[in-house]
Amino acid sequence: MKVFDTAYLRLTGWYVLIIMAISLIFSIWVYNQAQGELRMGFNKIANLEPFVQTFPSGSVQTAIQDRLDDSRHRLIARLVGVNLIVLVVSAAGSYWLARRTMQPVEEAVEAQHRFTADASHELRTPLAAIKSEIEVGLRDREMTKDDAIALLQSNLEEVDRLGDLADGLLALTQSDATLNLVPISLEETTAKVAKRLQPLASAKHIELKKQLDPVIIEGEDLAVDKIASILLDNAIKYSPAKTTITLRTYKRNEQGILEVQDQGIGIKATELPHIFDRFYRADSSRSKTHVVGHGLGLSIAQKLADALGATIAVTSSPDRGSTFMVTFQIPEKG
Ligand code: ADP
Repeated sequence: MKVFDTAYLRLTGWYVLIIMAISLIFSIWVYNQAQGELRMGFNKIANLEPFVQTFPSGSVQTAIQDRLDDSRHRLIARLVGVNLIVLVVSAAGSYWLARRTMQPVEEAVEAQHRFTADASHELRTPLAAIKSEIEVGLRDREMTKDDAIALLQSNLEEVDRLGDLADGLLALTQSDATLNLVPISLEETTAKVAKRLQPLASAKHIELKKQLDPVIIEGEDLAVDKIASILLDNAIKYSPAKTTITLRTYKRNEQGILEVQDQGIGIKATELPHIFDRFYRADSSRSKTHVVGHGLGLSIAQKLADALGATIAVTSSPDRGSTFMVTFQIPEKG
């Protein structure tokens, strides 16, 4: 990014300026010290009586002055040389350091740009649908009241999609916040979520099986609730009618596990690595189901899991179903 190229150069400039200022001050000090020492040394020799008397008067002073000038020139040349080396080395080192310092900032800005681009792309689709429906409606001179109601209903659906998208985007930014972890009951939170989503499952005649062992985990109620809701909501969305979804909570290897197992459409192995990416939706979920989604749920769940120190794993086979497993930490004396 161009703005970063300028920033690298400016930062490099500052680093070099600081290093060169130190180097120059040091050089001046070395120069003064060396001159002082030399002058003192030569003065001592010049004042040695028997030594001075063996030479014509004044010649010792001139010889000493010549030697002093000579050594001063050599010292200046060396200090200039050293400073030039410091300049070259510090410029290269500073540029490298500036790149390292700015790298996380550049990555964050790039991620922000991608996020804005993805979000506006997602926003454009429902907006375009609403706009074209309204335009067609306005051009239709013989529109009946029923047609108008159908159009408004369709608009309303798109507005709901926009609302969902706004909620998702908000949840995604909020999931960056640091969480205050406390011991919470995983099975109670899961049971609450199951109760809340039961009507969605019942509407598709999906049986919700609960095998909830008591487990106390290190968590935050709202975050764990959100993760469980996203996974259960997906399981319901991507499962055909009259199937079974099993919710399990249990303790294993000193960790608390939440499992959501469905008999749904599954996810292809090639798509599995991407399902936690923002705005990613597997092809099968678009073609086989007509489920509305924005591909934000799992990325929110992943971010919340990271904030909780938990991990999410998934196993899935197309047309047979998926199992999402969240592994939480257990409090020290849990
Ligand atoms: P959304 O459900 O809004 O599309 P998500 O981030 O929750 O977004 O999920 C991303 C994608 O992962 C979904 O589009 C779907 O293709 C796939 N997916 C998630 N959960 C399941 C599941 N239980 N069964 C099958 N596919 C799933």
